[in-house]
Amino acid sequence: MGTLWYGGKIRTLQTENDVYDAIYVEKGKVIKIGSHNEIINMPDITISEEINLQGSVMYPGFVDSHLHMIGHGEKLLKLDVSELTSIDELKEVLLKTVKDIPNGQWLLAEGFNENLYPNKIVPDRNILDEISVNHPIIITRVCRHAMTTNSFALNLANIDASVEDPPGGIIERDDDGIPTGYLHDQAQELVRNLLPEYDFNYIENALATSLKDLHKHGYTGAHSEDLNYYGDATKTLEAFYRVIDGEKQKFRANLLVHHEVANEIFVEGDSIREKDPFVELGSIKIFADGALGGRTAFLSEAYSDDPETHGVAIHSQEQLASIVQEARHFNMPVAIHTIGDLALEYAISAIEQFPVREGKRDRLIHLQVTRQDLLDRLQKLSVVLDIQPRFVASDFPWVESRLGHSRLPYSFAWKTMLSHGLICAGGSDAPIEPIDPLLGIHAAVTRRNPSESHEGYGEKEKLSLYEALQLFTIGSAKAINMENKRGIIATGYEADFTILSEDLFELEPDEWLDVKVEKTVVDNSIMYER
Ligand SMILES: [Zn+2]
Repeated sequence: MGTLWYGGKIRTLQTENDVYDAIYVEKGKVIKIGSHNEIINMPDITISEEINLQGSVMYPGFVDSHLHMIGHGEKLLKLDVSELTSIDELKEVLLKTVKDIPNGQWLLAEGFNENLYPNKIVPDRNILDEISVNHPIIITRVCRHAMTTNSFALNLANIDASVEDPPGGIIERDDDGIPTGYLHDQAQELVRNLLPEYDFNYIENALATSLKDLHKHGYTGAHSEDLNYYGDATKTLEAFYRVIDGEKQKFRANLLVHHEVANEIFVEGDSIREKDPFVELGSIKIFADGALGGRTAFLSEAYSDDPETHGVAIHSQEQLASIVQEARHFNMPVAIHTIGDLALEYAISAIEQFPVREGKRDRLIHLQVTRQDLLDRLQKLSVVLDIQPRFVASDFPWVESRLGHSRLPYSFAWKTMLSHGLICAGGSDAPIEPIDPLLGIHAAVTRRNPSESHEGYGEKEKLSLYEALQLFTIGSAKAINMENKRGIIATGYEADFTILSEDLFELEPDEWLDVKVEKTVVDNSIMYER
């Protein structure tokens, strides 16, 4: 007994032009792809269910290879300031919100982006003190590698001129050495540690909200990094098992495990592991550096727009290598966040020293700045590169002034990476970038924002539509060694499908953004229907 899907176009993505008009599925696995006639005349099958695609187009299930599912849900639930384009707008929104918060309680907002403001000024403690001196305020920067706070929050955290920068973090200071409220990377923890404990309902609610949105955008799975940010890591993992119950809610979640909680998850969490086939534990996540926005991405040469700094390494070369070595004790691949080229060099050296076990792949996440010698070394490693095409649309043109012209040819160089034979997987890094996979695909192909009309930032790095689709399908499957089960529509593969209203191959890139998700199908179950 099984399901016949027919009446539309089935793009298997096994090759660029592979198109069929029917597919037969049994017990969540694809049994046969072919013509409608061929399938209905197959001996030994019983079609118990028929689903008419009504002209829509079936693709292999889209999988976001790097995002933060709970963070995405929080963004949907919380005060999101990422679209605001001036300090005045920001003030207006915050003043309105703070009115409803009792004195002494936190005002939290997500995603300020000073690059959208006319004067590109980061809102500092003086600006936030105009909002309130009776509430602690945190506004995270859009990159999540920095936050800005007011005087109340700084006082609570005892951050004054006498406090030194913590390892891997920067406390910005004015000319007199007084902290401005702007905190980078690890310095954020000084304030974040004071936040009240997350309760279980909050995490579950954020996750459920996120899942609904992912299904709505056509995602059948995602590789998510959340376990180190909400108190007890095993509780956060438990929330995934509860929300993705495998019955009402199916979704292929692969969870990166931050190295600081690997012991809890892999050792203490043993009793709750692997009990849900839809929630898998993935690579061990390690941060090597920060981000370009706050100039904390770790570069081999100084920032072109600030010769005083070349960024921040979260760990020394030796520390990074020993964290990778530690991860090998759990028999797990690593997933290292590297944005600057020197961070990438550290990560490559650590992996060369302590390679992943045969047949597995490590992951390197972001790779915004690379070099030819590093690409050559990457070719010899068993790695997948997790890229987020949307960063090109969001970070250019300001990123050009950070990096200068000489570094640009090897920055955000997706085509160059692919042409070196390196495996790339595509993601959004939501909540930093919007979740919509069609926006990600659009950015990979056009290298510009939908609102812009130029030839793209770094034209020769544009991908074809087929390559862009592969990032979010087979690329994501390869990132977790699942390419024999997922990532294309093929006999024996899992029945995960993203069904769109139209055939992307027949449209212009700007038209993709109007294409609707008709159905999201996981394990042959319809999880979303328009
Ligand atoms: Zn991320």
